[in-house]
Amino acid sequence: MNLSASLRYYWNVKLIGRAALRWQRWQSERHPRVPSKWRTDILAPPLRIGARTKELIAMHYLEGRFVSGHRPVAWVTSGGPVEFLQALGFYVLYPENHGALCGTRRVVVDIASEAENAGYSRDICSYARTDIGAMLSGKTPVGKLPKPDLLLACTNICQTVLYWYRVLAHHFHVPLILIDTPFVYTEASEHDIEYVKKQLEDSVEVAERVARKKLDYRKFKEVMKLSKDASELWLEIMWRGKNRPAPISVFDQFIHMAPIVEMRGEKKTVDFYAAMLKEVDERIAKGIGAVRNERKRLLWDNLPIWYRLRYLAEYLGEHGISVVASTYTNAWGELAPMIDPERPFESMARTYIYPILNRGTGSKLETMKKMIDEYQLDGVILHSDRSCKPYSIGQVDQRNRLIKEYGIPALLLEADHDDPRAYAEEQVASRLAAFVEMLEV
Ligand code: SF4
Repeated sequence: MNLSASLRYYWNVKLIGRAALRWQRWQSERHPRVPSKWRTDILAPPLRIGARTKELIAMHYLEGRFVSGHRPVAWVTSGGPVEFLQALGFYVLYPENHGALCGTRRVVVDIASEAENAGYSRDICSYARTDIGAMLSGKTPVGKLPKPDLLLACTNICQTVLYWYRVLAHHFHVPLILIDTPFVYTEASEHDIEYVKKQLEDSVEVAERVARKKLDYRKFKEVMKLSKDASELWLEIMWRGKNRPAPISVFDQFIHMAPIVEMRGEKKTVDFYAAMLKEVDERIAKGIGAVRNERKRLLWDNLPIWYRLRYLAEYLGEHGISVVASTYTNAWGELAPMIDPERPFESMARTYIYPILNRGTGSKLETMKKMIDEYQLDGVILHSDRSCKPYSIGQVDQRNRLIKEYGIPALLLEADHDDPRAYAEEQVASRLAAFVEMLEV
C-alpha cells in the first residue's frame, strides 16, 4: 500500500465522492423524476431503488479510478469464483459489466473498433472486443479503469475468456489465475468437484503473493455468507415475478443486476437487495404491475440487448406483454442454495461448476420449462446472440421443442448483446409484430 495513493483514495472517494453521490441520490429520492419520454401510460414508473443502483455503480467505478496503489486490483470473469479475492482485500472489476455499461451508453462501436483496428476479429465476443479496445485506448465512459495486479478467468462461461485473459495478462504483465471447470453434461462427478476445488486452493498462494497478505479464513467465510445472502435476495426478487401482474419485468432486472454480478460478497449489496425486495413487495401490495395492462407473460433467454432495452420494454408493454423471467438473470440466483459458508472451497467448487453456460443444452431446456410452469408464461423470446455462442447454441432445437412439447409460441430474435452493428431494427420489429400476433393479445 502506498501512502500518497491511499490519501488520494480517501480524499477523492471516501470523502468528496461519497458525499457527492449521496447528495445526488438523496436529491433523486426526494424528487423522483420519470425519465423524459418514459411511457407511463403503458409501463410503471422506474423503481425508486434506481437512485441507489446508480449510486452503487458510480461509487464502484469511482473507487476503481483511485484504487491503484491503495488496494490490489483483480479483473475477473463474470461468474468467476471471486470470494477469496474479496477476503484478501482486492478491488474487483468485471470487464463484462463494464462492457454492459458501455452497451447501455452506446459507446461499444467506438471502443470495440480500437480492438478491431488492432486486428481482433468482429467474430469475437463484443464484451471481449470492448474490453480489449478499452485496454488499448484507455477509452471508457467511467473515466478510467484501474490497471489489474491480478487476473482471474474461469472457463465456466465460455472458452473465449481463456484467450481474452491471456491477451490481458500479456499486455499488463500480471499473473493470470485460470480456473478450469469441466463441462457438466448431466451431473458433476465428485472428481470434477475435487479438480475445481484443488485449483481454487492452489490459486490462493498466487493471490496472497499479489495482495501481500495471508487469507483470513474467518473473513473468507463472512464473504461467502454475504455472497449467499445477496444471491438469495436476488432470487427472491425474481420469484416475485410469479405474481400477477408481475411487479418488475426482466428489463428492470437487467438494470438492477449489476451489484449481484460485480459486488456480491459485500454487505452493501445485501442491504441494497433487501431494500429492493421491500419496494417490489410494496408494488405487489398495491397491485402495481411493471406493465400496466399485463395480458401475456414471457420468458427471455440469453443476454439482454443492452442498447435497446427501453425500445423492447415499450414495444412489448404497448401490447400488454410483460417479460417476467429470464434464464440470464436467474443464473445469478439459482445457485444460491449451493453456497455453504462453512465449507468455502468445496461449496465454491460445487457452485461455480454449475452455471447455466457450463451445463448441457438439455439442462437449459429443463430450466426453461420449469420457469414456464412456475411463472405461468405464455411464450418465449430466445435472443440468438451473435457474440455469445455458448448461450445461443441449441436455441433452434430448444425453440422447436418448446413449441412442440409445450404448445407455446417461441421466437428466435437475432442480435448481439453489445454491438449494434449486428442488430437490424426493421427485422426485429417485423419479427416481434408477427410474434405478438401469434400470442393473440
Ligand atoms: S462469449 Fe458469452 S459467456 Fe463468453 S464472455 Fe462473451 S458474453 Fe460472456
